[in-house]
Amino acid sequence: MRAEVVSVGTELLLGQIVDTNAAYLAKALSAVGVSVYRRSTVGDNMDRLVAALTTAFADNDIVVTIGGLGPTLDDITREGVAKALGDSLVQDDAIAANLSKFFADRGIPMTESNLRQARVPVHGRAIDNPNGTAPGLLFVKDDKIAICLPGPPNEFIPMVDDFVTPYLLEKTGNRGTIRSRILRVIGMGESSVEQIVKDLMHDDNPTLAPYAKIGEVHLRITARHDTAEQAEELVEERAALVRARLGRLIYGEDNQTLEQAVVSLLLDNGSTVSVAESCSGGLLAKRITDIPGSSRVFPAGLVCYSNAAKEDLAGVNPSTIEKHGAVSHEVAAELAYGVRKRFSTTYGIGITGIAGPDGGTEMKPVGLVFIALADAQGCKVERAHLLGSRSVVRTRAVQTALNLLRLSLLTQRH
Ligand code: AMP
Ligand code: MG
Repeated sequence: MRAEVVSVGTELLLGQIVDTNAAYLAKALSAVGVSVYRRSTVGDNMDRLVAALTTAFADNDIVVTIGGLGPTLDDITREGVAKALGDSLVQDDAIAANLSKFFADRGIPMTESNLRQARVPVHGRAIDNPNGTAPGLLFVKDDKIAICLPGPPNEFIPMVDDFVTPYLLEKTGNRGTIRSRILRVIGMGESSVEQIVKDLMHDDNPTLAPYAKIGEVHLRITARHDTAEQAEELVEERAALVRARLGRLIYGEDNQTLEQAVVSLLLDNGSTVSVAESCSGGLLAKRITDIPGSSRVFPAGLVCYSNAAKEDLAGVNPSTIEKHGAVSHEVAAELAYGVRKRFSTTYGIGITGIAGPDGGTEMKPVGLVFIALADAQGCKVERAHLLGSRSVVRTRAVQTALNLLRLSLLTQRH
């Protein structure tokens, strides 16, 4: 079955809210084997809504709408779907009675417009909404199905779980389940990763697709099969193949973050790390301490922004700064050595660079960052020229630092 998700609401088009409902729904639909062929977003305007719905019904078996079921004038989804399907709406007296009771119980007068929420399709019915006053609607007209759900996520999500999923499982005969996995790759750009797995990207089951993220690449594997177990097995086979090719470039799967991977390696190895950050301004310490249990591996992070702070807090030699500049291989190394010594940790990390947008020179352009990792054996310094805005440069610098540490921890392990 092919489906389109139509999100309705001018606030979505204005970028005032993010369409988290559509993402949630898309996952739920794929999990029951319904292919989402298109997602669209329309404002609260009847002509454009009907036009979008007409196209959606022409191309798909199922259309799921999100939002616009409220009582106010801008809530037009109910009427729009009826129009596009050539159906009409009638008042459901039981729902109308419930609405009257809802308002009476709260001592709020009910307006005529509230009664619009009691209108249901002639070819269809209402869908229970235990968390709000607007019921959802199911239209079944000719060979088309429309499911209309309210916008507030606390109403929407339970209705997806309690109605949409079981209803569509029954419709599809529980066939064709989709399973996905993300393999998270760091230390190589998207196009290079693609080169390594290119031949696997032509298959249509399982599919493999790369997504460039900031400072990492995600490879999504998606497989379809009759049962969830079979789909999972297909995913696992393909994941094993990709893992064999990419090896240590893969740091984690699905929702595992880089900092989670690093903290768990530190815990496994019984190692600790402290950090002295200049241009990343504490972001590395923040990422590490986002992870519960990090207190066992991370005693301290310093933000050494000025030259004086680099000298006073991390023991950087003033003559090193004078000779090489604050953004240099040498200062990064001294930050790493200094913080490691000060907090007696297995590892010390130093980061110094030019995050921009100003402050770059020909010799030291914006985005130039030195990332140093010190341990008992010595110090490794990576010179990186990172692209992007100030915040992207900082994020990339932290990604590089975490990955340097990860690779060293992996080597130590064997
Ligand atoms: P509506 O059902 O259109 O009256 O929307 C009610 C509220 O639900 C809006 O003000 C939003 O806060 C929220 N909402 C509507 N559509 C979405 C969506 N697609 N994703 C997340 N929240 C939404
Ligand atoms: Mg709305």
